[in-house]
Amino acid sequence: MIERLSENLKLIQQRIETSAQKSGRVADDIRLVGVTKSVDVEVTRSLFEAGCTNLGESRPQALWDKSSQLADIPITWHLIGHLQRNKVKRTLACAELIHSVDSLRLIDAIDQAAESPVKILLEVNVSGDAAKHGLKVLDVESVLEHVVQKANVRVEGLMCMAGFESNLDQARREFAVLRTTRDKHSGFQADNIRLVELSMGMSGDFEVAIEEGATMVRVGTSLFEGIG
Ligand SMILES: *Cc1c(COP(=O)(O)O)cnc(C)c1O
Repeated sequence: MIERLSENLKLIQQRIETSAQKSGRVADDIRLVGVTKSVDVEVTRSLFEAGCTNLGESRPQALWDKSSQLADIPITWHLIGHLQRNKVKRTLACAELIHSVDSLRLIDAIDQAAESPVKILLEVNVSGDAAKHGLKVLDVESVLEHVVQKANVRVEGLMCMAGFESNLDQARREFAVLRTTRDKHSGFQADNIRLVELSMGMSGDFEVAIEEGATMVRVGTSLFEGIG
């Protein structure tokens, strides 16, 4: 299994490199977050051993469980899915970055629960899908203004998912919206706001996302091809 994982990982890293070059960047500027929500603890461990050290889970409970079962290895954990306020405290203890912050109430809950500054991304609903979480593009500015007061919250950038129905061209336009939203606010002056990261792109569209400026891609399915 580890051989197959290593091969898959290598292929994805090559594709990241090619896309980075297309956009005049280097692969080191793009962080691969391996999304382990569809695999068990042993496969997750093997993925780390194959060299993928940033891992993401979409359900808080799964993140708690896996991070405690794999506490013996130095995984950098990301929460990429919806976070309920009653799950904040435990999640802060294991996640290095929360990609999916989408409300003022969640920002307040994180600020209250944290004992030191927590890195977050603001999730933006770029596709307008009613079923998707995320802030409206037009609300980003007022949310940033809200964050300024929060000593224990640090915004590192923005995150999005392409629409369920989007083809690659539409996905590209949606990723471009996230980038222009980031650029529009990049001059925002606050010690706890640094709009550098763009977390966008999954198995089906990460190359397009990189061409549009992604600094983090969240890849699951493609990493586990051939692993049964
Ligand atoms: C599952 C998931 C991914 C990974 O998707 P794949 O298509 O399996 O690569 C990325 N981001 C989020 C938020 C997810 O829930």
